[in-house]
Amino acid sequence: MSNQVPSFFESVQRNFDKAAKHTGLPKGLLEQIKVCNAVYQMRFPVKIGNDYQVIEAYRVQHSHHRLPTKGGIRYSMHVNQDEVMALAALMTYKCAIVDVPFGGAKGGLKISPRDYTPKQLEKITRRYTAELIRKNFIGPGIDVPAPDYGTGAREMAWIADTYQTMRHGEIDGAACVTGKPVSQNGIRGREEATGRGVYYGIREFFSFKEDLKPLGLTPGLAGKTMVIQGLGNVGSFTGTISQKEGDVKVIAVAEYEGAVYSENGIDVEKLLKFRKDTGSIVGFPGTKTLPKREDALELECDILVPAALENVIHAGNADRIKAKIIGEAANGPISADAEEILLKKGIVIIPDMYLNAGGVTVSYFEWLKNLSHMRFGRMEKRFNHNTYDNLVNMVEGMTGKTVGVQERIFLTRGADEVDLVRSGLEETMVTAYQQIREVSKRKKGINDFRTAAFVSALNKIASDYMTLGIFP
Ligand code: NAD
Repeated sequence: MSNQVPSFFESVQRNFDKAAKHTGLPKGLLEQIKVCNAVYQMRFPVKIGNDYQVIEAYRVQHSHHRLPTKGGIRYSMHVNQDEVMALAALMTYKCAIVDVPFGGAKGGLKISPRDYTPKQLEKITRRYTAELIRKNFIGPGIDVPAPDYGTGAREMAWIADTYQTMRHGEIDGAACVTGKPVSQNGIRGREEATGRGVYYGIREFFSFKEDLKPLGLTPGLAGKTMVIQGLGNVGSFTGTISQKEGDVKVIAVAEYEGAVYSENGIDVEKLLKFRKDTGSIVGFPGTKTLPKREDALELECDILVPAALENVIHAGNADRIKAKIIGEAANGPISADAEEILLKKGIVIIPDMYLNAGGVTVSYFEWLKNLSHMRFGRMEKRFNHNTYDNLVNMVEGMTGKTVGVQERIFLTRGADEVDLVRSGLEETMVTAYQQIREVSKRKKGINDFRTAAFVSALNKIASDYMTLGIFP
């Protein structure tokens, strides 16, 4: 282990190298997969109040082996080129793991959204989009951004509108960005998608008895304790869905302003409402406030879910982590140094490039919806409903019994867009988990899920390169 703290991109590259050894792929091909294909660093002025501010921004396209490239846009004061490169690389591997046919990309603006009014944020977002258009770094078949830390549906609507204004008449223009509001060509189920995917991934881990036994855990999520860091888009949906659908007990939550704890469990939905009303999670009835927000990471629990930023678990605190499983909802929350310490302690890490892939999966569905110009379920919903209705009528006729009104509604419902999106997401997360698990069982010398996930991704990307004839 070196004395220097590895940068985020270095951590990703180190994990790549660790996995590459298990693939047997040619060195040159691995090198091509590893590097960032295009880095666009920009500075542009925006008038804020009576003065001008120079905004530092990036868009990195990590891999062009499949197009378009895809990845979120981050607004944070931590943004720098190394971070955006690391996030773009993770996107390439993530897309491969969940069979989303895109290359990886990421964007970042070094700003703190809290320091601006919505009007100012709109100005900055539209200007950034114009820069991307000018350099041909955005478009339905080129590069398709999405939300990430500090951005959401509102920013995506501004991006789509700017693009469609400047590329007036482009028939597939709405597909230039995903994560848009449903009313503006978005898709139902996108907002919750990353958190829902995190839930499905953790649920899969808890379905294999033999993997749980060494940790002293029983199958099933009900009653398992969870700690969440970051109650933004990903953390809040992970918490509410894990509680509602998995009966998980969330015992602590950390946010910017502090961390709260209750051994009896915290109702995440009520906590979110409390934060909305008071501006803070601190003081939520029935909870104790921890001395420091980082203390939440070191609590004893079954599942720790870091859902804020990278490198929050580092060589300095890894030894004090007591969770049995860490579900990486955020990108890169564990540094490469910390990972070695955690693995030695027997802690299981469900890696970011698999676990938070629900967002890009549903973004892919949104992109397909935009290209088809039609909502999922529109063609078949009524047809299916009528078919099931006829079946129920037949059964009633044959048995002489009648089903109740509620039962009939339940039995004959055709799938809506959100049902199909959730079903596609669940299928994706379950299948990808099985593939990663299979690699970890089959390949000798692989004893962690990150390496297995990397190997699975690298083999798929290499096969794409070979199919393209670039490396015949
Ligand atoms: P977000 O901006 O909606 O929420 C992040 C939250 O973390 C904020 O509420 C912030 O106050 C909090 N936070 C920041 N530093 C903290 C700290 N030290 N302790 C506790 N809380 C802290 O962002 P998000 O979209 O939920 O993204 C979170 C992570 O998930 C990022 O790493 C992002 O790259 C990753 N991710 C997001 C998506 C997506 O669809 N939004 C998809 C895949 C991965």
